[in-house]
Amino acid sequence: MPDSGRIAERLERLWALASGPGGGADRPAYSPAEAEAMLLVAGWAREHGLEPGIDAHGNLWALPAGWSGAIVTAGSHVDTVPDGGRYDGALGTVLGLELVADLEPARGDLEAGAGERARAGLLVCAAEEAPRFGAGTLGSRLMAGTIQRSALSQLRDAAGVTAAEALDAYLRELRELPRVKPPLDRWRAHAEVHVAQRRALRTLGVVTTVASPRRFAVQVIGEAGHSGEIPMAARHDALAAAAEMVLAVEAAAHRQPDETVATVGTVAVSPGALSVIPGEARLGIDVRGISSESLAEIDAEIRASVAEIADRRGVRATVEQVRGGDPATLDGDLVDAALSAAREHGIHASPTWSGAGHDAQHIAALAPALLLFVPLHGGESHTPQEGASMDEILQAATVMNAVLSACALDSRRGV
Ligand SMILES: [Zn+2]
Repeated sequence: MPDSGRIAERLERLWALASGPGGGADRPAYSPAEAEAMLLVAGWAREHGLEPGIDAHGNLWALPAGWSGAIVTAGSHVDTVPDGGRYDGALGTVLGLELVADLEPARGDLEAGAGERARAGLLVCAAEEAPRFGAGTLGSRLMAGTIQRSALSQLRDAAGVTAAEALDAYLRELRELPRVKPPLDRWRAHAEVHVAQRRALRTLGVVTTVASPRRFAVQVIGEAGHSGEIPMAARHDALAAAAEMVLAVEAAAHRQPDETVATVGTVAVSPGALSVIPGEARLGIDVRGISSESLAEIDAEIRASVAEIADRRGVRATVEQVRGGDPATLDGDLVDAALSAAREHGIHASPTWSGAGHDAQHIAALAPALLLFVPLHGGESHTPQEGASMDEILQAATVMNAVLSACALDSRRGV
């Protein structure tokens, strides 16, 4: 049985590690604060008989000491957005240890004739949150090979530190932990419990699909000039054209199903002077959805609108896709197993989708992955007010443990 007192106490310990100006959790990706949280979790893992180690990407693996057979893992992440919440990442991490506590003691009973039985461990992925480097889920993506180590030199934080430099410093902070290789060839399944980041979800959510952000950079080149001397009819104002493009992006998303969303999150104007007509504007667009068809449609619509607006206003515009990606479909067997485990335990659960990115979607390329959402109570996610109820946390832990326990026994899974 998951231990509510232990879960609450560990969540408090993580929460108290480093706080931001607004009183929230403040453990940026690949920072000393993330390393400190990893060390705290590694200590708890030892209490459960696990042997913690760090892989080359900064992910914490804690596996049963001396075990080289099949494993099932659970966990999440311990870095946060600035002034983040109490549960985001921390919850799934703490529940990963509850999986170990639940599955490992039962092992003795099953030892005889259970040579193929997998054992339970913890995986805490590094650098999951995007704000510091403008790219998230770095630890799991590096492991899955969907981002290369060389790309970390191109990612910089506000102080100019590259993700590669930050990872090196972070690994130095963790030098007391042995360096391990991800045990990819004996990994039977992974589960991540995460606080829901959408208020509409009112029951335990079993995630079937995770949206993958597609990001576009739009550059609009007009003609700079004196704001007092150039008549309106003779202007080629890059910002005015870009403003129309922002509204066109919004309108295009409104024509798609609710799950498809598009946001212009950044605007840069050059020269950015009050008395100069903007000669250049740049937009950053983030598009997410769980339907590839819908994403293809909105992609085409955005490009057509940008071209039409540019043409009509006499400016030049280019659209560059800076990040691609299709929605990730999670393991259907694990989704079914989670829904039936919930039914067996009298827990309300429903299939759902995620608009936010999670490590589980990248791990899904390496091992069958389950992602469960605990309803959000009070506040919004990514804020210090983020809330969750202990009853629902225990429900998620119960379902996760039941699913992974079945996977651990299922040697047909091949590893
Ligand atoms: Zn998270």
